[in-house]
Amino acid sequence: MSNDETGTVALSGQCPLVATLPVSAQCDPEFCQKALNLLPLEFCSRLDGLTVLPNRRAFLIALDQAMAERPLQLVLLDIDRFGDLNACFGMAVGDRLLTEVGGRLASLQSPDRLVACLGGDMFATVEPLAPAGPAIPVLVDKLSELLTSAIDIDDTSYFLTSSFGLAQSPKDGATASALLEAAEAALAEGKRWGRGSAVTFRPEFVRDRGRAAWLAQGLQRALEGDRLQVVYQPQIELRDSSIFGFEALVRWTDEAGQAVSPTDFIPVAEQTGLITRLGAVVMTKACQFGAEIRRKTGRPLTIAVNVSAVQLHRHDFLATVERALKVAGLPPEALEIELTERALLEANRDAVAVLAELRRWGVVVSLDDFGTGYSSLGCLTSLPIDRIKLDRSFIEQLPRDFRSVEVVLAVLRLARSLSIDSLAEGIEGAEQAEFLRRCGCRRAQGYHFGRPEPAEAFLSGQIRF
Ligand code: C2E
Ligand code: MG
Ligand code: MG
Repeated sequence: MSNDETGTVALSGQCPLVATLPVSAQCDPEFCQKALNLLPLEFCSRLDGLTVLPNRRAFLIALDQAMAERPLQLVLLDIDRFGDLNACFGMAVGDRLLTEVGGRLASLQSPDRLVACLGGDMFATVEPLAPAGPAIPVLVDKLSELLTSAIDIDDTSYFLTSSFGLAQSPKDGATASALLEAAEAALAEGKRWGRGSAVTFRPEFVRDRGRAAWLAQGLQRALEGDRLQVVYQPQIELRDSSIFGFEALVRWTDEAGQAVSPTDFIPVAEQTGLITRLGAVVMTKACQFGAEIRRKTGRPLTIAVNVSAVQLHRHDFLATVERALKVAGLPPEALEIELTERALLEANRDAVAVLAELRRWGVVVSLDDFGTGYSSLGCLTSLPIDRIKLDRSFIEQLPRDFRSVEVVLAVLRLARSLSIDSLAEGIEGAEQAEFLRRCGCRRAQGYHFGRPEPAEAFLSGQIRF
């Protein structure tokens, strides 16, 4: 092993994966000595092949030992959208970026601080916990600074940003892997809210993740056992309070007999991909109900089904809708799909084409929870929409709150001038209904007119309409 002036230690001939080891990788002499003593096989298995920093396995061993001695601060660093960089500029550039990042981070190594590459674009540092340090340690600024200056590769400058997850031992984890999991949970939480974040672990992050995993398992079993129910809420014409259709809303009662709210399990279904199966089940049942209630009443009633962004982007979404309509014998014009602003904003060109195709069939496309997103107006001009559903949050304060009144009036006027139909959600009282009718809102839905009920309640005539 020889040290040259470029700051690398030559290891040629010893490990086929790596030719050189940055001097800084020797930061923890004890650790490195152990690693080097185990050459060549153990050497390869304990260092990251690209950055030549200690890898996850080596890091966990070193962390376990250090944790036994004193409280520590762990900082996880993840390069933002590294997958996109790889996809755009190629893996070779991606590898060189990682090598450079590894080299830069290695410059922070000290006898008191270990830097490691945990795999992919995730790096970690660990150092003794400062007794009364700032909530986000100065090290995070140093790490960000190191990464923000350009990385030049073949005449092109690349700029990176990163997100951080922080955890402290023993408070956030008593073992190396528990501490790492805590920092990973903090990192994931930060990423939910955007990139470039630095988030310190809080126990609810794990509770949330634990609950999400629990919900996903339960939901999967409910799907297997066909135990998801669909209920239907009447949608009415404000002119005469007659029902023109229904919104299908999924219901799940878990194995302990507890009803779980869709606002809890739909996001989990979206994250796990279960939404595709769940969505197909709801679509099938809803079309079936739509066809039956039309046959029974002889009226051209419609059925609205909530569709998530994930479903809209599936290659087989059109086929799923087509099959459900066909099996039920429901005409496409009797079906409405409700998409949230987020779903519409995320719609890529293929998804917009899917919406256009559905509208060609006669399916109605509506924008759900209108006003809760941040670019509602943009959606109205650029996307194929037949109807907007004014979110309950605007309706709740009507007619007393003058701000809600002004917003609702402006939205109704806008919809009218763009020839887009409007429906107000969450009407709970006669006063709200009357106010909206007088403002020119044509349609509504809410507990005042009817709660969501099982299909049988409407089909059996138990609820008359
Ligand atoms: P959403 O599509 O905006 O549905 C309306 C929600 O408001 C429903 O809650 C409904 O029960 C509730 N609601 C209706 N009228 C009133 C009222 O007068 N007052 C109050 N306080 N609430 C009212 P629910 O069933 O809990 O559904 C919540 C959300 O979950 C839905 O909001 C929708 O975004 C989503 N969701 C429900 N079923 C499905 C589904 O099958 N697929 C997908 N992707 N999402 C679904
Ligand atoms: Mg809806
Ligand atoms: Mg809604």
